[in-house]
Amino acid sequence: MMMDANPKTAAQPATQGMNVPTLQLKGIVQSYPEGEGRLEILTGADFTLMPGETVGLVAPSGTGKSTLLHVAGLLEKPDAGEISVCGKACAHLDDQARTEIRRSDIGFVYQFHHLLPEFTAVENLVVPQMISGLPRKEARERSLALLGYLKLDHRAEHLPSELSGGERQRVAIARAVANAPRLLLADEPTGNLDPKTSHYVYDALLALVRGTGLAALIATHNVEIAARMDRRITLVDGKIVPMD
Ligand code: ADP
Ligand code: MG
Repeated sequence: MMMDANPKTAAQPATQGMNVPTLQLKGIVQSYPEGEGRLEILTGADFTLMPGETVGLVAPSGTGKSTLLHVAGLLEKPDAGEISVCGKACAHLDDQARTEIRRSDIGFVYQFHHLLPEFTAVENLVVPQMISGLPRKEARERSLALLGYLKLDHRAEHLPSELSGGERQRVAIARAVANAPRLLLADEPTGNLDPKTSHYVYDALLALVRGTGLAALIATHNVEIAARMDRRITLVDGKIVPMD
């Protein structure tokens, strides 16, 4: 499969074996200032995601799904708790070390695509790979292969503004995995799409995740889509509980 052509994934350190969680959260606490006090969002969230697993995070709006994903994606530092990504403890790392882990091990897909508007679809995939040190030619080949896998070959040279909503989200998914991460975090990635397009985008997303052995935590409030994941979790009073 194309992702294995990447030299980075070919040689895996022993710590990235199948028995090491791709993501582990322990006792995550996160609150935000609210008036005189604090708004408690996560109150001791525990979660383990194994390699190759797809997990749906299904909870009502405002319960902390995005907060949890931002903490797991090292975009936000929690008030307390432990986070490890592929066996590496991350909570106490400095910003630069966190950025490096984010760049090499984590892919993020947001509800809004966040593609660079002045770059074509393929260039949007090339840029993060070049930032990670891949030569342009190789980055471009990998990008085209990835777009082909998502059935976007014919869209490679188009600007985001020339793509449909579903195509833009598929490019965003391709970009998120362009650096061959271990962990894919997606925050309501089809929240802006109609149900039919949404299912089509998930077909692509899940095929990619399962074809590459990535682990994925995907927030959605669509239970039908969540049913397509290996298992489902929800947030109750700031803690993660299984749904099945
Ligand atoms: P969800 O993604 O499930 O809709 P969020 O994680 O976005 O929930 O938000 C959970 C709660 O935390 C909401 O009440 C939201 O307003 C609040 N919140 C999120 N981020 C911040 C922030 N940076 N500052 C203050 N409050 C925030
Ligand atoms: Mg959210």
